[in-house]
Amino acid sequence: MYNGCMDEIQDIKTRLNIVDVISPYVTLKKTGKSYKGNCPFHSEKSPSFIVTPELGIYKCFGCGEAGDIFNFIEKKEGVDFAEALQMLADKAGVKLTKKQGENTKQIFEANKLAEKFFRYCLFKTDEGKQALDYLQKTRKLDNATIERFGVGYSPDSWDNTYTTLIKKGLKIEDMEKAGLVIKKNNGYYDRFRGRVMFPFYDITGRVLGFSARTLKKDEGAKYINTPETKIFTKGQTLYGLFTNKKGIRDNDKALIVEGQMDVISTNQAGFDFAVAPGGTALTKDQLMLVKRFTNNIVLSFDSDIAGINALKKAITLAEQLDINIKVLNLGKYHDPDDAIKSSVKEFKDMVDSAPDAYNYLINSYLKENIDSPTKRKQIAKEVSDVISTISDPINRDYYLTQLSEVLGVAKTNIHLSRSYSKQAQSQVQEIKGTNEEIIISILINYPNFKTRYKELIKETEINYKISDENTKETITLLRVGQNQKDAENELVKRLTAIKIKGLEKKLKEISKTGNTDEIKKVVSEIKKVKRM
Ligand SMILES: [Zn+2]
Repeated sequence: MYNGCMDEIQDIKTRLNIVDVISPYVTLKKTGKSYKGNCPFHSEKSPSFIVTPELGIYKCFGCGEAGDIFNFIEKKEGVDFAEALQMLADKAGVKLTKKQGENTKQIFEANKLAEKFFRYCLFKTDEGKQALDYLQKTRKLDNATIERFGVGYSPDSWDNTYTTLIKKGLKIEDMEKAGLVIKKNNGYYDRFRGRVMFPFYDITGRVLGFSARTLKKDEGAKYINTPETKIFTKGQTLYGLFTNKKGIRDNDKALIVEGQMDVISTNQAGFDFAVAPGGTALTKDQLMLVKRFTNNIVLSFDSDIAGINALKKAITLAEQLDINIKVLNLGKYHDPDDAIKSSVKEFKDMVDSAPDAYNYLINSYLKENIDSPTKRKQIAKEVSDVISTISDPINRDYYLTQLSEVLGVAKTNIHLSRSYSKQAQSQVQEIKGTNEEIIISILINYPNFKTRYKELIKETEINYKISDENTKETITLLRVGQNQKDAENELVKRLTAIKIKGLEKKLKEISKTGNTDEIKKVVSEIKKVKRM
């Protein structure tokens, strides 16, 4: 990933006024040298969000959010630094000298022009009419919705798309890199022919690739997708995220559905917070994309065996990322589209009252015959495997109790798989544990920190030498962050916390003596440590 060079970052900062960058999101009022408004990161009635153009920074005195234009766009648009850089570079008219960007630029360009051409074919050509009919009459979509998702149509021809795009100035090699054409012998032919085209966008709205649905009954594959390209990787994009990202943030939840049609029809019905994995099982990368906007997901999967297995995988992933997960109980309906066509209100109730995933899973097993010993054993194993992944001990125990009640088996007889919890714990970002436990865990996992933070460790009188193997194992498993950098930050944070505690204790004792000089000294020391 490209991170930008300092010159470019500085250039963008000088060209853009932070007030202009923030104004579309916040109504700002001038007060002296600064601007004031209601904070966009927390809910408030009187403004405590201050923007200082001279310094190019913002700060909220209510929730503490602060930063520069890049931080603001990252937070507000849910993009990473590279994407924020790109967005602000475009706004500032600064050309980024990307290291790998040059290769991908043409692919994005090819996709962009193809998308435009497909949209034109859908709305403006005779051939496109049958596709438009299908969308409007069979799928009951209005034109505004179709346009919102950039849906188009690829003409049923071997060369119509690429010859048109060549006239627009595209190179055939770039179209090949974008997966739009297939090379054969010495020629090329269009990959997408006679299909309804659904573009996949990245979070900033660039076209990554397409999912294409045939209109012919006798065609082998109902859907074909753009193959893996430099910019399109299966399992790393979410259909509908670009269009629905605002809705996801506003509703503070994402509805995860199976297909793009579900995303589009739910959006038209007012549920503008759905996304679809797009032809793969839900992946960790996709959940991480969702997590930029919300910590709550509602899953809509088929209630068959494949659906239950997909759900179990999703639960494990969500648990690793500390995402709350609920399951949409569609009852008699086949899919969300089906439910919405029957009753929008009923669908809304289903979304609002979606049961917690673990409850859903345990209850779905209730429907099965648990009288046979083999079946009981199998269910106990399958559900307890999932319960093992819960990192929070209270919730883990709660669901274990539920399972034991459903099965009529004592809790102690249900075996939680150790490997599962180990795996889950080592990957979860959130860190729980006392300062001492976490510090020792980090020092065991990253022995090089012992020398790097020797002084600080000494001051906190932490003894990280552990004799008991069991204790050592438990502590090693404490979650210390995803990588060395996270762990290091956490270590410093925890060590500092202990140091401050010690200093505050000292301050209390000195206060009794009334020695003002000593008190001042300790107070300033505490201040100094807090700034570290
Ligand atoms: Zn705030």
